[in-house]
Amino acid sequence: MNKAYKQHFAECAHCRARQKFHRTLDGSLTILTSLAALFFLFALAVLKHIKPLEHVAFNIFGLDVADTYHMLISAGVAGLCFSVIALALVLTTTPAPTYLGGLAAERAKLIEARLPESIRALLPR
Ligand SMILES: [Zn+2]
Repeated sequence: MNKAYKQHFAECAHCRARQKFHRTLDGSLTILTSLAALFFLFALAVLKHIKPLEHVAFNIFGLDVADTYHMLISAGVAGLCFSVIALALVLTTTPAPTYLGGLAAERAKLIEARLPESIRALLPR
């Protein structure tokens, strides 16, 4: 079954192109969801350490400072949870981890091939 499947991909350009498109989509989703998680983490760090919004919340909108922080931190935590769940879903339901791992191994081989012989001899086999 697996052999016939691979054979078909080797022969059929249409299916190969579709597979490549879907792998690209999986890779992009993985990158986007991990970036989203990182940005929410960053936003929480900013809220914790810097207080640039106090002036805006208090003087311009007339909001209570504690309420504003509560609201922003809740939004940050909810966003972080949501993006981590989305990342977990992408990693478990798509072949993205295998695909990205294969891509990384391919790049490593290319880089290794460009190294001078004296350095390549030092690499563990
Ligand atoms: Zn086909």
